[in-house]
Amino acid sequence: MTDAVANSPLPPGSTLGILGGGQLGRMLSQAASRLGFNVVILDPEENSPAGRVSQGQIVAAYDNPTALTVLGKTCQAVTFEFENVPAGSVERLVESGALVAPGPKALAVAQDRVEEKTFLNGVGVDTVAFAVIDNLEDLRHAVDRLGLPALLKTRRDGYDGKGQVWIKAAADAARAWKAIGARPAILEAKASFERELSVICARGRDGAVAVYPLGQNTHKGGVLRTTVAPARIDAKTEARAHAIAGAILEGLDYVGVMGVELFDLGGGLLLVNEIAPRVHNTGHWTQDGCVCDQFEQHIRAVAGWPLGPTTAHFSVEMTNLLGDDVTKWEALSAKPDARLHLYGKAEARKGRKMGHVNRVKPLV
Ligand code: AMP
Repeated sequence: MTDAVANSPLPPGSTLGILGGGQLGRMLSQAASRLGFNVVILDPEENSPAGRVSQGQIVAAYDNPTALTVLGKTCQAVTFEFENVPAGSVERLVESGALVAPGPKALAVAQDRVEEKTFLNGVGVDTVAFAVIDNLEDLRHAVDRLGLPALLKTRRDGYDGKGQVWIKAAADAARAWKAIGARPAILEAKASFERELSVICARGRDGAVAVYPLGQNTHKGGVLRTTVAPARIDAKTEARAHAIAGAILEGLDYVGVMGVELFDLGGGLLLVNEIAPRVHNTGHWTQDGCVCDQFEQHIRAVAGWPLGPTTAHFSVEMTNLLGDDVTKWEALSAKPDARLHLYGKAEARKGRKMGHVNRVKPLV
């Protein structure tokens, strides 16, 4: 890919590839289609939620070399809806001629909690104190150093609170180490936060940065339940969140939308919990709160278009519909302030993200 091609915006009619056929891929595909792009999904599961609203789906594993070569040759740009994309897959896509965004550095950092916190601290962004854990002895030392309670998390492959165990007493260390599968891990000091916030931000191919108003999030069992946005926030905290977003985006030479999860300690003090190099569940409110939502914003960035406006025109409470919650669709569809977003998943397994509802109010 020459610099001239990499720097000129992809015209409507171009084909974009998305690794991952879940709800995030689906909403990205819908936004891309609205801007006149064709979308091809790569996902091992046939008839995926994203595949069903796209021009095509390649049904193959994310590391299938033939599938990646076909995707790379068919698409002018490729992005993904999840961060655990194998590094080798990104390399193959680039070799096949596609522009891949976000790039390999963002993926490598986001795939490993130790790399992530080390990177964040390196660009001047605070996190909880942490220790690298490779064995039970490391864990015992770290418990002494960081104090208790502390949270043991696997370094890789954790999401929605999976692969995490709280340690409350030193005697629990061995049990916790076993519970996470005795795998490379990180021990995190407990963040005594007042609330959890997130900032959805974006960087274009030209280096322009756009930041949405912050969301305030509640979790249950490690899974996001609600986001209220714009969060009520003082000027100092808002300025800090913007500085954090800018430092991370610049530090990764990032292209696309990113979700940054924050612990608000009060008094303008924010710690970053984790970053997601993709559109984020806590950014779903933008679909009904902003003129340009996070999905369109991501497509704009990946395609090299100018970034869209991030101003909120409505106040939104987003609630995830998990498992059987989705059976409320009929009642919700009758509410004048509710906008339903359903993912077209056939089976409402317990805890599965089936859709979300945005309850919209005028901004006051
Ligand atoms: P994560 O998978 O890292 O996003 O963690 C899921 C949830 O666990 C977060 O949204 C917090 O509610 C909680 N959590 C994670 N890490 C910490 C920490 N170091 N201190 C306190 N709570 C945490």
